[in-house]
Amino acid sequence: MKILKFGGTSVGSIENIKRIKEIIADNEKKIVVLSAMSGTTNALVEISDFIKIDYKEEAFLNIEKLHEKYVTVINDLLKEAILKQDVENYIDTVFSLLRTLTSENHTQLIHNKIVAQGELLSTYIFTAYLNQEGLNAILLPALDFMRIDKTNDPDDFYIKQNLQRIIREAATSNIYITQGFICLDAYGNIANLQRGGSDYTATIIGAAVNAEEVQIWTDIDGMHNNDPRFVENTHAISNLSYDEAAELAYFGAKILHPQTVMPAREANIPVRLKNTMDPASYGTLISIDFKGEGIKAIAAKDNIIAIKIKSARMLLAHGFLKKVFEIFEKYETSIDMITTSEVAVSLTIDNDKNLISILEELEKFSVVEVDNQQSIICLVGHLVVRHHETHRLFKVLQDISVRMISYGGSNNNISLLVNTNDKITALKCLNHYIFEGIFA
Ligand code: ASP
Ligand code: MG
Repeated sequence: MKILKFGGTSVGSIENIKRIKEIIADNEKKIVVLSAMSGTTNALVEISDFIKIDYKEEAFLNIEKLHEKYVTVINDLLKEAILKQDVENYIDTVFSLLRTLTSENHTQLIHNKIVAQGELLSTYIFTAYLNQEGLNAILLPALDFMRIDKTNDPDDFYIKQNLQRIIREAATSNIYITQGFICLDAYGNIANLQRGGSDYTATIIGAAVNAEEVQIWTDIDGMHNNDPRFVENTHAISNLSYDEAAELAYFGAKILHPQTVMPAREANIPVRLKNTMDPASYGTLISIDFKGEGIKAIAAKDNIIAIKIKSARMLLAHGFLKKVFEIFEKYETSIDMITTSEVAVSLTIDNDKNLISILEELEKFSVVEVDNQQSIICLVGHLVVRHHETHRLFKVLQDISVRMISYGGSNNNISLLVNTNDKITALKCLNHYIFEGIFA
């Protein structure tokens, strides 16, 4: 069994929906995980936000706009009268529900119900389309098996038991379709795996059915060696280890939801990143079978806050870091980078929700400086730290002002912290040193 996940752009137009049909129409058994059509989840979030601030009129207008879009989609896609009527009824139910929700007291649960509709719509429409085209596709509702626990981690045991049972009980088919992103929480309420979470759905399912491969189909030909928005001539990396891919996804490569690699790594299932617009291109294969040493890719993550904590008491004292970490732990804020000297420690966070409280507590025993608008530039590869060429990387320090460096934390990663204004220069400069002859 293979798991194939198609992202928003892949289900975002009639043309692309037809492409997906071609990709999945072989005789292999597969579960197809779909995102919402591109733009839909954003539109639903906006509707939810309007309801929250009691802008009912705006919420209604946006619901109408979205409804019209779906009416056009099924008019273009579905010709078979009975199927089309059934899908029209389904779409009407979804949009009536959205209209009803505008009058409810806005809660997290209402928000979750609203944003879940995108995947419910795309999978319903796509299953009907495949049936119209003579492919026997069966819809497996994600809410019947996908669940997270109280700590928001996938409830692996529950998912495995229920998914396997549902597949056993379903009619035999080579194509099962399910929703990405949406799930139940530990109390049985509708929830989700965070924005971009359909990738994560795919690997969680892959682990639950012990799939031979998980494929993530998007609109780019794999993970690139640098950010194509800022640097010219980037190329897809053909092979990555799970650790390398996880670092890249976490530190900015937008193609993959950061947690996606975890279930696949644990179950040792290869993850292939493929391009729906160019199915013949190799893409990126993430597996234990990776090749090559040295730096393979550069990624950048913005909106980083650097905090420098200085204390005279740190000198020759122990327990200082414990005290610092306890504060971040208390406010559930994770630390990305950290460097220390004998009298100060600098660290970075990307979540400023509890920043004020954290600073207040730190200031009780230290002098604190905060730098906003920082970016982490992450260099990823296998054995980057020990690779004989890595030292040449530090030439780059001649050209860019680097606020922090994290080297040796793992074999796969070297991170540099720069001011966001310097990010593009840094990405280009590193590209030059690493991939364009000088360092290659
Ligand atoms: N539709 C959801 C989002 O836009 C999940 C996903 O596409 O992965 O975030
Ligand atoms: Mg995505």
